[in-house]
Amino acid sequence: MRSRTPDRLCAEAVDLARAAAEEAAMPGMVGAHIDAVADGDRVVTHLFACEEPGYRGWRWAVTVARASRAKVVTLDESVLLPGPDALLAPEWVPWSERLRPGDMGPGDLLPTEAEDLRLEAGYSGEDQPPPNSVVAEGMAAEIADTEEADVLPGSPAAQPAPARGSIAAVAEELGMARARVLSRYGLHAAADRWEEAYGPKTPMAQAAPATCMTCGFLTPLAGSLRQAFGVCANEFAPADGRVVSLSYGCGAHSEAAVMPKPPKPAEPVLDETVVEPVALRPEPDGGSVEDTGPAEELGHS
Ligand code: SF4
Repeated sequence: MRSRTPDRLCAEAVDLARAAAEEAAMPGMVGAHIDAVADGDRVVTHLFACEEPGYRGWRWAVTVARASRAKVVTLDESVLLPGPDALLAPEWVPWSERLRPGDMGPGDLLPTEAEDLRLEAGYSGEDQPPPNSVVAEGMAAEIADTEEADVLPGSPAAQPAPARGSIAAVAEELGMARARVLSRYGLHAAADRWEEAYGPKTPMAQAAPATCMTCGFLTPLAGSLRQAFGVCANEFAPADGRVVSLSYGCGAHSEAAVMPKPPKPAEPVLDETVVEPVALRPEPDGGSVEDTGPAEELGHS
């Protein structure tokens, strides 16, 4: 195995290497000589500290070489390279992994991968009830009779619709008649997110007088999620328009607080023992109404 001891003449060419580094760098940005590394036979790279503030830990690497039996060392290249403690940019991350909730703006398009785990195939329209399906066969005759009797030509009802009792009708009723629908994984992920944002462990719910389950502003969801979630429809609530857990709650609960009654005015006091003279019109000289004297008390003349 060949020795990796730097060639002596190349290792001694520090001034040549420094001059090359200073030519490439900004003035005064080449620091102390750090090392001389043998890259091969008569090929040595000199390392100088980089003093650029934005390149902490980087080093100027200047490679010099000489030909066999030649005494003249020549310059190969000079380049700025990161050292072991260099400050480096973070590893590049694809945009699809950098995307965060709320990043999308108007007009943005977000493609969904074909293998997105949050989705699975909906009803494709190609499935048919099994040939021996009692329900489908029994329904077929009934539907035929109904259509003949009730549907007028040209009416909306004359449009092709899934036969009652068929897989297509059930899929449409359940909201499955789409190219893709939420998978079990997607459903659980959404439920976890909503539970974290508007669930029973939030400070708002902990301090609430009652839960959303008993609140008149709760609007139920459809499907299996309605067992645990609803939508808040109270414009004064912090969760207005949001999916909330049934165990969530807030101070705007419809039944938790009673509106305070307006204060009852005091009964008017009628003192029938005193006469108070009241001027019906201002005095002619424009002055203020004169006090006509102390009030007379009845029964004290
Ligand atoms: S007003 Fe408060 S308690 Fe009622 S549904 Fe909305 S978040 Fe729940």
